[in-house]
Order: sequence, then C-alpha cells, then structure tokens
Amino acid sequence: MKFNPANHIQDLQYFGEFGGVNPSISDSSTYTFLSAKTMFDTFEGNTEGCYLYSRHSSPSNLYLGEALAAMEGTETANVTASGMGAITAVIMQLCDAGSHIVSSRTIYGGTYAFMKNFLPKLNIETSFVNITKLEEVEASITPQTKMIYCESVSNPLLEIADIKALAALAKKYHIPLVVDNTFSPLNIAPVQLGADVVIHSLTKFINGSSDCVGGVVCGTKEFCLSLKDVNSGAAMLLGSTMDSLRAASILKNLRTLHIRMKKHSENAFYLAQQMEKDGLRVVYPGLASHPGHELIKEQYNSEYGFGGMLTLDVGSLDNANSLMELMQQRNLGYLAVSLGFYKTLFSAPGTSTSSEIPMEEQIEMGLSDGLIRFSIGLDNDIERTYIQMKECMKELNLL
Ligand SMILES: *Cc1c(COP(=O)(O)O)cnc(C)c1O
Repeated sequence: MKFNPANHIQDLQYFGEFGGVNPSISDSSTYTFLSAKTMFDTFEGNTEGCYLYSRHSSPSNLYLGEALAAMEGTETANVTASGMGAITAVIMQLCDAGSHIVSSRTIYGGTYAFMKNFLPKLNIETSFVNITKLEEVEASITPQTKMIYCESVSNPLLEIADIKALAALAKKYHIPLVVDNTFSPLNIAPVQLGADVVIHSLTKFINGSSDCVGGVVCGTKEFCLSLKDVNSGAAMLLGSTMDSLRAASILKNLRTLHIRMKKHSENAFYLAQQMEKDGLRVVYPGLASHPGHELIKEQYNSEYGFGGMLTLDVGSLDNANSLMELMQQRNLGYLAVSLGFYKTLFSAPGTSTSSEIPMEEQIEMGLSDGLIRFSIGLDNDIERTYIQMKECMKELNLL
C-alpha cells in the first residue's frame, strides 16, 4: 500500500487526563519518582515511559514527536526549540573533531552559515556540492565524511534532490543521509525513499501560523535516544528543548496540515502556470520546464501537489524590491522572510535568508539578485490574486 503520511497522523489517538479530546499539557519541568531506584535507572536511560526532567523529554513533546514520526514513517522523533536546534544537534551528534560533511550548496542560509563559519572552529569541514550532480557528490566523499546533507526541495532555488540515488550512495559508503524536508512536509517522505534522518523546521508549513519557532528530528529509536542521552546527547546537552505549551499548540495546528498543503500547492501551481504563460521567469517544481520536474514526480505524494514555494526572477534587486513593496501595499502578501503562512510571504533571498552566502557563491549557484521567493498563501480566490499581481507588475513595467 502507498505510504500516506496524513493517514498515519490521523490514525493516532490521544486523550487528555480527564478524557479531554486534546492531550493534557505537561506543565512541569521535573517529575517525581515513587522509588529512588527508578530515578537512578532513568538517568541510566533504562526506564521507558518515565519522565525525568523536561529538557530530556516531556509528555507534550513526546505526543508531538510521535505525530511527526508517523508523518515521516520513522520509529520515533525528537522535537526541538527551533529548526536550527534540530539541525545543529544532528550534526554535532554525527560528527567529531576532524569529521567532514558533504552538503548541498543550496541550503537554508542558517545551515550554510553553521557549516561554513561555525563548524571549522571544531575542525569540521564541509564540501558544498551541486546535489543534482551525483558524480560530484560521490567524488567529495572522503574517509572522514560523516554525513551527506541536503534539502528535499532546496531553499531558495527549489532544486529537487534525488533522495533514492543519494541514499544508495550513502549506503555504499556507510554514512547517513540527512534530509531537511521543511519545504515539502507530506509532499515528500524522505525516509520512505531511503534517507536515514529527516529534519523539519516546524516554524514553517507544519505549524503554519507564523507564531513560533520549532524543529524536529525524525529517525530510528537508536539515533533519537542517542540525541537525548544524558551523558552524550547533543539535544540534551546543548539544550535546544521545545517548551511543552508550544508542543501542544503545534500538535493542534498539525491536524490541518494536509488541508493546508493541498491549498498551498493548488494556489502555487495556478500562479506558476499563469506566470509562465505570461512569459515571466518563474521556477516551480510542478512546471514541466523545471529541471527536477520528472524527478519530483517519481518521489512525491501526488495528492499534496508540488508544494507552496515558487520563485520569480524580475531582473534586478531594485525591481524585486519595488514589486514586493507594491504587492504589500495592495495587501497581496507580506514582505517577510519565512514560509508556510496563510498569507503569501515574499522576500529577496540574496539580501535576506541567503545573505550568509557570499556573493560569488550566490552567482555560481544561480541565485540572481532579482530573485523573489514566494511562499504562496491560502488565498480563497487565487485568480483574483493573480489579476492584482499582474496590475502591480504592469505598473512597474515588469510585464
Ligand atoms: C527556516 C528553515 C530552517 C531553520 O529553522 P528555524 O525554525 O528558523 O530555526 C532550516 N531549514 C529550512 C529549509 C528552513 O526554511
């Protein structure tokens, strides 16, 4: 049977302490033990189902983690205080001083900055590669390589990673494939395609209301337990713990994710098709003109579409800025970073979310300064939206 992530989430059943239809929120940092021996065993990591201290785990965080593990089809998951909290914990867990990482060069700016600027302090080096060129990925692997890292749909260029092929390569060299799936929750299920660890920034589509930051690591029980090991776990010791109240609120939002993703995808697909018809330089994985179009069709769960992200190149940063300001004035969306909101969000990645990447490297990877990244919202009437967008572009002589 075909893997259906939303069905897996729906099949979970939780009740609150008093029969509430939502699970009770664990409002405690610490937990009592009936016997001193159990406390000792819990520290040793031997007692399942016992809570110790909320930096380690809490019932609310476990509920959210279980739901996200169901979504990705992994044994379990650990939630974290932010997407970067998940990414840095995974890297620190898998790497030692002297390790090497092979990473896609088109990744989230914060991840890029961490690998490029921070990890060398620990003598961890990263080779940034064109992830769509498997020969280049393979040629970069050294005996010190501890992970292959990529995004399923890359930020901001929307390149599609061939997860099956990358997983086969990772297996050949006995290293894990770590995939950031933030742009494509439900659309793509990387572990089902062979990835070992999946990370999300919950801040984006999964929470969907732009009111908090959060992250998750989905993987095997063994890996997730190692992350929260009291003696050596990066999540436990670096302390990027999600608050229980937040975990409970994100779990409630997760329940509508499938409906939202379908609408984000439907609206983005409509706009991309119209823009292409009008001769605009639009990039969207759902368009046949996208270089990764055939690949995403092999990998995605078609009912959720091709995702809510698209880019439009309007030729120069000045054009991009004028268009974004005008669209905001006309209430077509907000000039803001981040994604997955009900409202369309747009930003020029070269000067915002990818500004950590040096200009020469931006040019090399095809990140032009007239590029606008759109996270398409849940507009009820997307045809009306496009008519208004076109008016803005006409006024600025971009169409
Ligand atoms: C936003 C984002 C992150 C970082 O997540 P935070 O929740 O902001 O820490 C990581 N990867 C991708 C692809 C993102 O879009």
